Amino acid sequence: MRKPIRTIVIVGGGTAGWMSAAALARVAGKTHRLHLVESEEIGTVGVGEATIPPLVTFNRVLGINEDDFLRETQGTIKLGIEFKDWWRRGHRYMHAFGAIGRPLGLTPFHQFWLRARALGLDGDWEQYVPNTVAARALRYGRQQRPRTPLEPLTHAFHFDAGLYAALLRRHATAQGVKRTEGRIRRTVLNAFDGHVEAVEMEDGSRVAGDLFIDCSGFRGLLIEQALGTGFEDWSHWLPCDRAWAVPCANGGDFTPYTRSTAQGAGWQWRIPLQHRTGNGHVYASRYMGDDEAASILMGNLDGEGLAEPRLLRFTAGRRRQMWNRNVVAIGLAGGFLEPLESTSIHLVQSAISRLLTMLPNEGIDAEEVADFNEKSRLEYERIRDFIILHYKATERDDTPFWRDCRHMAVPDELARRMRHFQAHGRVSRLYDELFLEVSWVQVFLGQGVLPRGYNPLADQLTEKELVAFLAEVRAMIGHELSALPTHADFIAGIAGAVF
Ligand code: FAD
Repeated sequence: MRKPIRTIVIVGGGTAGWMSAAALARVAGKTHRLHLVESEEIGTVGVGEATIPPLVTFNRVLGINEDDFLRETQGTIKLGIEFKDWWRRGHRYMHAFGAIGRPLGLTPFHQFWLRARALGLDGDWEQYVPNTVAARALRYGRQQRPRTPLEPLTHAFHFDAGLYAALLRRHATAQGVKRTEGRIRRTVLNAFDGHVEAVEMEDGSRVAGDLFIDCSGFRGLLIEQALGTGFEDWSHWLPCDRAWAVPCANGGDFTPYTRSTAQGAGWQWRIPLQHRTGNGHVYASRYMGDDEAASILMGNLDGEGLAEPRLLRFTAGRRRQMWNRNVVAIGLAGGFLEPLESTSIHLVQSAISRLLTMLPNEGIDAEEVADFNEKSRLEYERIRDFIILHYKATERDDTPFWRDCRHMAVPDELARRMRHFQAHGRVSRLYDELFLEVSWVQVFLGQGVLPRGYNPLADQLTEKELVAFLAEVRAMIGHELSALPTHADFIAGIAGAVF
C-alpha cells in the first residue's frame, strides 16, 4: 500500500541538511511538515568553501540577497580555479567559468583559436577567456550590461560553510522548519516494507516521517547504517583519501579565484575569504604519510595558521542508490568526490532540485525512484571523469603517485572523450551534464591534451579575417576589463572593510 507523503524529516544539519531544509521550506513549506534533526555534539564537516556558479541561482530562488550573503558568510568572488604544477612543474592554467571568446554563428570560439594555432598564428588561448583575464588582473565587478557582444562575467563564491549553514538555518526555521537538536541513537524500520518510520533520539523520543532525507554526512546513518545500500568505491581512479585543512591569516593576492597546487601525492587548495584564507592538502595516504602531508601544508601558507590543522578521511565513490525505499541521501551521505572542481555543494543543490521535481505525493513510485537514481549516477560519473582527467593528463613523473596516475586505465567514457578531443578538438557530452564543453576544453588544453584537428567550419574566415577576429575579441575583453574595479575594492564596497 502506498503511503501519502506529508512529513519530511531531514537528518543532519550540515551544509546539505540546511540547504535541503531551506529549499523545501521555500517550495513545499505550505504543503508538507518539515523537520530537521541535528547534533551539535557530532558537528559538521564544514570545510566546503569553494563553489560553482549555479549556487548564485540557488540563493536567488531562496530570496537571499547576494550582498547580504557575501557579508554574512565572509564571502568573496570566484571566477575559476587556477591549476599550478598539474600538467608540468612550473606550469599553470585556469579553468574559468563562463565563455571562451565569442562564437561565430554555430562555431565555438575555440575552433577558431585551434585553427590559428595550426597556422602558427597564436599560442595563448587564456587571453580569450574573459573570466581568466579578469581573474589574473584581480578584478571583478557587476556588469549591468556588457559594453561589447561578450557575455558578462560568470561568478561563484568562496565562503565560510559554517556561516552559510547558519544563514540557511535562519531562513528555514523562519519558514516553519521544525528543528530538533540531539543525537540519534537508532533508526526505526517498518517490519512490513522495511521503510524508515522514525529516528529515535538518545532521550528515547522519536521523530517520525513519511520521507527521510539523509544528510548525516559520511556515516550515512539511514542510507547505509540502517538500509545497507552499498557503496561503489572509485579509489582506484581517485586515490586521494585524506585531507589536512587549516585556516590562516590573509596574505598574498586577494584572488577572485581558487588556487589548486599539485603536490607530490595530491594537491593543495587556497581559498581567500574576507576574514581568513582557507587551505587544505588533499593526498593519497598510500603514497604519503600524515606528518609529511601536514608539514607540506603548514610550510605553504600565506599567513599565520589560525588553528590546529584538522585531518579528514574519505573514500571517493557513491552510494549504489541515492534513493532507497523512503530515504534520499543528499550530501556526503550520498557520495564523495574530492573538492578539486568544487562540486560537492553543487551536487547537494542538484539532488535537491531533482527531488523537488519528483517529490512524491500519494506514495513513492518505483519508476520515479529508478529515474532519480539513474540521473544521479550519470551526474556523479561524468563529474568523476572530469576530475580523473586532471590526474591522467599529466606529464609529471617525479613521484610514484604521479607516475601511477599517468599510467592508470581510466573509465571507458573518459578514454573515448580524450581520443575524440585529440582528433577533432570537440567534446561530445550529454545535454544536461554539469561541465560544458568550454570547461572540458580548458582542462584538456591546460593539461597538454592538444587536438590534431579542428572543426572545418572555422575555415569560413580567410587567414586575414581570422587574425582580425582574434584581435577584435582581445580588444573587447580589454575594453570590458578596463571598467571593472579590483576584487578587493568590490568586496570592500559590500563589506565596508579594507582588503
Ligand atoms: P556534514 O557536514 O558531515 O553534516 C552531517 C550532519 O549530520 C551534522 O549536522 C551532524 O550533526 C548530523 N549527524 C550525523 N550523525 C548524527 C546523529 N547520530 N544524530 C544526529 N545528527 C547526526 N564542497 C564544496 O562544494 N566545495 C569545497 O571546496 C569543498 N571542500 C571540501 C574539502 C574536504 C576536505 C571535504 C572532506 C569536503 C569538502 N567539500 C567541499 C564537501 C562539503 O564540505 C560537503 O559536501 C558539505 O559540507 C555537505 O556536508 P554534509 O552536510 O553532507 O555533511
